[in-house]
Amino acid sequence: MRRIDAPRALFSHHPHVHLHRVLERSAAGVNKAKRLGPQSPEGKRLARKTERKILPWFRARARKLPLTTVSALYRQRLSGMQEADVPVDDFFVLFTEWLEDGIEQFEVLMNSSIQEGLAAGFEGDLQAWIDEFKLKVPPFDASAMLPESVIKQAKAYAGELVTGVTDDTAKQLSTVIAEALETQRSVPELAKMLRDRFEEIGTNKSKVIARTEMGQAVSDGAYHANKAVGATEKESIQTTDLDDICAINEADGRIPIDQPHSSGDMHPLYHPRCMCTEVYFGATEEGLANLLGLGG
Ligand SMILES: [Zn+2]
Repeated sequence: MRRIDAPRALFSHHPHVHLHRVLERSAAGVNKAKRLGPQSPEGKRLARKTERKILPWFRARARKLPLTTVSALYRQRLSGMQEADVPVDDFFVLFTEWLEDGIEQFEVLMNSSIQEGLAAGFEGDLQAWIDEFKLKVPPFDASAMLPESVIKQAKAYAGELVTGVTDDTAKQLSTVIAEALETQRSVPELAKMLRDRFEEIGTNKSKVIARTEMGQAVSDGAYHANKAVGATEKESIQTTDLDDICAINEADGRIPIDQPHSSGDMHPLYHPRCMCTEVYFGATEEGLANLLGLGG
């Protein structure tokens, strides 16, 4: 059984000292760093694609803002303005319901994006090992090789993510309404404020979700690929990231693949826009061949 863990100074010109140090120890790590991680071309492509998919969802909701209900509730509240406190709970409930109206579409959309990210990360790291072991392999479908439990977990996560986004958005919109009531804006003014704010929230959220969640999915896919081919150890590398939590995880050095990093995470990302990458060690040719159905 061949186990690859040979030093190779392929990246001696690389500007990042940390990366260089680790890459010297793993030829597969070189492949990985070139191709994978949240900042890889594939990670960026998936993030752009996801952003393009999420944005129309927010825009469609903004267009369908239930203005008649907003106006009715607004008038009802305005008549009670003399009372010290103007509760916005009704608005919050209304907007949560309104957002939930399209939640299913959003969930399907996020679920398919996360699955795609997972498969990309899985395939990318498998390919790195295939190159490393110089195996001749017919084309394969990485998404079909993802363990069932991983797919299930991703689906549940997509659901949680969507609920979090809609709750958060409703809360932000209720702040706009509270402000509008305090400053006694007219109904058309309030409607415009809500639409503008909603578009703005949607644009920002689409970017953050796409970058963070796709980076996370790609990284998670890579982790599962390495487990599937028998990798035994991992090391977190900061590349261009300069964050405390990332530095702490890098300081862990080389640890067993099943051991969480000091932050409690199994692999990057450790924070939004994290650019760390995980390098894996000790995959076996046998594990790889078995996974690809090439026989021992
Ligand atoms: Zn990081």
